[in-house]
Amino acid sequence: MDLGLSGKRALVCAGSKGLGRGCAEALAAAGVEIVLNARGAEALEKTAAEIAATYGVPVTPVAADITTPEGRAKVLEVAGAVDILVNNAGGPPAGVWTDWDHADFLAAIEANMLSPIALMQALVPGMQARGWGRVVNITSAAVKAPIAQLGLSNTARTGLTGFVAGMARQVAGSGVTVNNLLPGIHATDRMVTLDGPVAKAEGISLEEAAAKRAAAIPAGRYGSPADFGAVCAFLCSAQASFIVGQNILVDGGAANQTI
Ligand code: NAP
Repeated sequence: MDLGLSGKRALVCAGSKGLGRGCAEALAAAGVEIVLNARGAEALEKTAAEIAATYGVPVTPVAADITTPEGRAKVLEVAGAVDILVNNAGGPPAGVWTDWDHADFLAAIEANMLSPIALMQALVPGMQARGWGRVVNITSAAVKAPIAQLGLSNTARTGLTGFVAGMARQVAGSGVTVNNLLPGIHATDRMVTLDGPVAKAEGISLEEAAAKRAAAIPAGRYGSPADFGAVCAFLCSAQASFIVGQNILVDGGAANQTI
């Protein structure tokens, strides 16, 4: 399907690996020029070169921590005017609800709520002025079904979700759609980080922990960055112009709910 995105320009945050990379690849495959961000310059430059070579679109890497004001300023200066914003950053650490202090909550809220809000505030007015734009915020299935050990994520991402619910409806009339994409379990470095402690606690191998978790997903497997990126690209497409302020699960059916 032609997504109607050829020649558009996107900023994809936290995109040298995992889900962000999946989104960048799917957009590049649709002919979108990419500004690609992550902190580590080496992996970022390698990914940018690979995507540019594979899809034949310009990919500009910007190494910066997207969760800091300085990092965002650096990224925004390189990005300039963009048609598409994919908001993403690393997820907060796991633990139990009594583990976290005030500073831990502030860090999670800064990274997974206030940073994407700041980027929307910086870039969406330009999209509105030009009469077309797409924002996809990578949040988490935890927004719909809380994950016990990810209380910091449950908290910060729900705050972002509340902001988007109001804001998306205020900008939709100017041709800009803002939606959240909620990953369930995908095979990325982040999942290895989360499977590791489970394997240790249960005295099983990482592979056994992953197989056990996959068996609990109706689709019977972890998602891939490509699965996730394809949905992101569709949400950015010309065809998705009537999808506004939604929270779309990509989880292989894992959240056991009716709506
Ligand atoms: P990942 O495989 O660990 O990749 C994270 C990417 O983000 C890397 O490119 C990393 O590069 C970059 N990054 C991390 N922190 C950054 C920062 N402060 N500034 C700029 N770039 C940053 O993670 P993932 O699995 O793709 O997860 C992406 C997001 O989805 C996370 O917030 C995660 O919590 C959430 N999520 C993932 C899953 C899943 O199953 N994978 C499920 C639910 C939610 P550098 O380290 O070089 O910066």
